Amino acid sequence: MNIILLGPPGAGKGTQAQRLVERHGMRQLSTGDMLRAAVKAATPVGLQAKAVMERGELVSDEIVSALIGEELDAMGSETGAIFDGYPRTEAQAHSLDAILGQRGRTLNHVIELAVDEDALVERITGRFTCANCGKGYHDKFERPQVDGTCDKCGSTEFKRRPDDNEETVRTRMAEYRAKTAPILPIYEARGIVARVDGMADMDQVTAAIEQVIAS
Ligand code: ADP
Ligand code: ADP
Ligand code: ZN
Repeated sequence: MNIILLGPPGAGKGTQAQRLVERHGMRQLSTGDMLRAAVKAATPVGLQAKAVMERGELVSDEIVSALIGEELDAMGSETGAIFDGYPRTEAQAHSLDAILGQRGRTLNHVIELAVDEDALVERITGRFTCANCGKGYHDKFERPQVDGTCDKCGSTEFKRRPDDNEETVRTRMAEYRAKTAPILPIYEARGIVARVDGMADMDQVTAAIEQVIAS
């Protein structure tokens, strides 16, 4: 099973990907996470990507497609892939076709998380993650069960992304509208797009995605 989670920043891609990983043993391939790891490790890719990410613009297609190919090669061919935050441009969509084809994989579903733009700024500015295991949280919508302690691993350290501020979010939303939303028709023509209401409760969104996957 290979699926794409598509939606603007804050739509819930990462949240839902983490749940699919837990329930189905699939693998989350998040180019955002891969790039942040590269920035942290100050690799050549990270050094190139850092300023672009801080502005909320898109990193080059070549860089992200190379990262995706490497990550797929590092996982078992039987393991399902959830693409989270990739592809984001038409060029990336075409690269993904080639990358999957070369590895004997086919794309099963593109799940579009439909959300109101007005809600996204609040989602993004309230977002934080466990510094140890990466579990996602929100100041208002998903607080840890015990304040200050990660539900999943017990860590007491959390972090926030430098690009999760209102100004950068506006740029990221504009990038999504201009470059990412236009790739939907490619997949609509193949009949593999499912639209899920991303404004619903997290659990309801998960249930809707489960239905798509089971279909
Ligand atoms: P994305 O990966 O698409 O950028 P996230 O999954 O990180 O989005 O979600 C952004 C923030 O919104 C997180 O803090 C998350 O806890 C919260 N969130 C995710 N889904 C929902 C939802 N259905 N309702 C309310 N808040 C949500
Ligand atoms: P979000 O969860 O808010 O959608 P991501 O973590 O996916 O954000 O991405 C953070 C930043 O990393 C983006 O604003 C962009 O600069 C860069 N990035 C991530 N994925 C891609 C991609 N597929 N193509 C180009 N840039 C990307
Ligand atoms: Zn944790």
